[in-house]
Amino acid sequence: MSDPNYNPYDNVLQVVENAAQLLGYKPQDYEAIKYPERELQVSVPVTMADGTVHVFEGYRVQHSTSRGPAKGGIRYHWNVNKNEVRALAAWMTFKCAVVNIPYGGAKGGIVCDPTKLSKEELRVLTRRFTAMILPIIGPEKDIPAPDVGTNPEIMGWIMDTYSMMKGYAVPGVVTGKPVQIGGAPGRNEATGRGVMFTTKNILAKHGVDVKTVTVAVQGMGNVGSITAKLLAEEGATIVGVSDVSGGVACKDGLDIPAIIAHLKSGKLLESYGAPGVDHITNDELLKLDVQVLIPAALENQINMSNVNDIKAKFIVEAANGPTTVECDPILEKKGVILVPDILANAGGVVVSYFEWVQNIQSMAWDMEHNNSKLKEIMDRAFEEVFTIAQDKNVSLRTGAYLIAVKRVVEAKKSRGIWP
Ligand code: GLU
Repeated sequence: MSDPNYNPYDNVLQVVENAAQLLGYKPQDYEAIKYPERELQVSVPVTMADGTVHVFEGYRVQHSTSRGPAKGGIRYHWNVNKNEVRALAAWMTFKCAVVNIPYGGAKGGIVCDPTKLSKEELRVLTRRFTAMILPIIGPEKDIPAPDVGTNPEIMGWIMDTYSMMKGYAVPGVVTGKPVQIGGAPGRNEATGRGVMFTTKNILAKHGVDVKTVTVAVQGMGNVGSITAKLLAEEGATIVGVSDVSGGVACKDGLDIPAIIAHLKSGKLLESYGAPGVDHITNDELLKLDVQVLIPAALENQINMSNVNDIKAKFIVEAANGPTTVECDPILEKKGVILVPDILANAGGVVVSYFEWVQNIQSMAWDMEHNNSKLKEIMDRAFEEVFTIAQDKNVSLRTGAYLIAVKRVVEAKKSRGIWP
């Protein structure tokens, strides 16, 4: 399904260029934001359990620091590459801008399959990688967080490595940490929770009650599984979900807690079974006849090979970049309403922001506070994007970029180009 020549950074550039032109900016106003500010590539040697030395390829890319410190997750996946990390970093810049939190954008990644590494190998890899990117990260410079293939435990190792090298505890260097070392209660669920709020918001705008909809979720990692669980709790019928091994579907609705328990025990969906449940491929999942489709896996999933077969009326992008740029006009023509990634999945970085604010002030907020502030920010950003899209008669993606690009360009213009 994936095209080897696909470069997600080209996707970002096209969307940004389009928004900048609609905003009436001159090329010199936005030339600089077309390039990542800083890129670091590292070769990370690890002595493996069998005594061999494996050198892993790692990256940290800072796309922009115009609106604040660079911010974004670290991905552990075999498909990580420089153009992907660049695109993910740029999406962070525009995501932070659309929800109006004072950050730029960054992303990191290591080419590896974390499921094939022992815990000790993972720990050593993370610590060595942190040491190698240490010169460019820090609470006032660049703050990593979890992404695909990483989790709170790994963030804890990053916090400890950075702190050991500084000689004192620096919780604000990374977000998504375990709660006992300064993590924000609710951060782990925040991206999925934000996707749930956004899904309800877009349905409400079209007069659709969440209790009446059928939903398919591609990807049952942190974001997909929490989204599916929360939407099921809201009364939606989750008729299909998938992971790397494929999907499961049931027209009467899947038992999401049972599926999450199955996955938590270390098994894949291919071995899940229950009465009325069929096994399908990931591609079939995307083409299910549902009202809401939530891609919550990787980039480039809805592309020219399958866009014409998408039957959902609403697409809520929980993943970063799941739809290729040339699909947008096709979906629009089909009447599909798409809520873009930089808005839909911003809940994670919003609660990361709460975590960082608490860390640098040595404060602690509770889950209730974090969840209600998250809702406030997600609802406000949704309203702003929805309103501009209606006023200008453009898609929600274009609307989101009109807001985000304007905020980034205006910040850049206010600061000027140094010297
Ligand atoms: N990796 C997440 C994202 O793509 C979260 C980033 C963060 O919390 O900094 O938005």
